[in-house]
Amino acid sequence: MSVATRPDEHGRFGAYGGRYAPEVLIPALDELYAAWLELRDDPGFRGELADLLRDFVGRPTPITHATHLSAELGYDLWLKREDLAHTGAHKINNALGQVLLAKRLGKRRIIAETGAGQHGVATATAWKEAVNEALRDWAASVGTTHYVIGSVVGPHPFPMLVRDLQRVIGDEARTQYRDRVGKDPEYVVACVGGGSNAIGMFTAFVGSPEVRLFGVEAGGVGSELGRHCSSLTLGQPGILHGALSYLLQDADGQVVETHSISAGLDYPGVGPEHAYLKDEGLATYVSATDGDALDGFRLLARTEGIIPALEPAHVIGWLRHRPLPDGARVLVNLSGRGDKDLDTVRAALTGEQP
Ligand SMILES: *Cc1c(COP(=O)(O)O)cnc(C)c1O
Repeated sequence: MSVATRPDEHGRFGAYGGRYAPEVLIPALDELYAAWLELRDDPGFRGELADLLRDFVGRPTPITHATHLSAELGYDLWLKREDLAHTGAHKINNALGQVLLAKRLGKRRIIAETGAGQHGVATATAWKEAVNEALRDWAASVGTTHYVIGSVVGPHPFPMLVRDLQRVIGDEARTQYRDRVGKDPEYVVACVGGGSNAIGMFTAFVGSPEVRLFGVEAGGVGSELGRHCSSLTLGQPGILHGALSYLLQDADGQVVETHSISAGLDYPGVGPEHAYLKDEGLATYVSATDGDALDGFRLLARTEGIIPALEPAHVIGWLRHRPLPDGARVLVNLSGRGDKDLDTVRAALTGEQP
């Protein structure tokens, strides 16, 4: 199954994905799928989106050679700078594309879940509840409304739609890296919450035998259920938010509370394409703790003058343990900037409340 044929027409990535949604949403999901198959190759739509990505978002975002951090870790590190996209993270690539799509569908009302906002512990429930609430609203308003889902999760065709809109990250980065370095990186690393920035980066490389892909999940404060959000590394397959994927559930199959210092990674499930990549051995998933993320945050700020969001700070924190061979050529997706996390970091480092 190649990227081009993934998912199948039922929205399956191998065994994962699919559509476990209320009957009333099926026509809207069918409409969305049909519209996307047509529009994603439509020159008019692509041109309109490309213009906005260039003029409004500021794409292509650059890649930066992290020379000081490279020297400190013993790798050759490049950063894909999604932190420099307008609004400070990769999410705009998807949001913009879906809103243009909604316009084409004549849907004038837009809803979105907002669980991936600030402030750690409470947010797992918030994102879970927010997605459920958004799906509920959508079921009652499908005629006029489009649901802009925020990651590669949810019922088919959302995981595919969001991937197609985020793959600009990896498509740009592969070309930029080849231009600068003359070949592909050996390792490509991204953090994984729902999985959209990682899939956006991985899609350009997946299946290339010379490139190994690593996804870093939030290891929180421990490996016991409830203390982390490592759904791929510690979870089991189950159904959440309309799709089959790895998720964190108790012995009765109930989805559990999760914890991460970063709101964007604090999600008990993960996009179904990652479940497929994991089972097929096409990508490797690891985890990094809250403490690793704080270390990574400080390390990148000190060495490169770049304040990362706590989400990609997990990647830097993981690299700090030198898990890859000396001298490795590594491309990291720096998914967002850290202004939003300064209060959280200050509180964690001083023990004061944010
Ligand atoms: C939301 C967010 C993430 C996690 O979401 P994915 O869908 O896994 O990409 C990662 N980094 C930043 C900066 C975010 O805002």
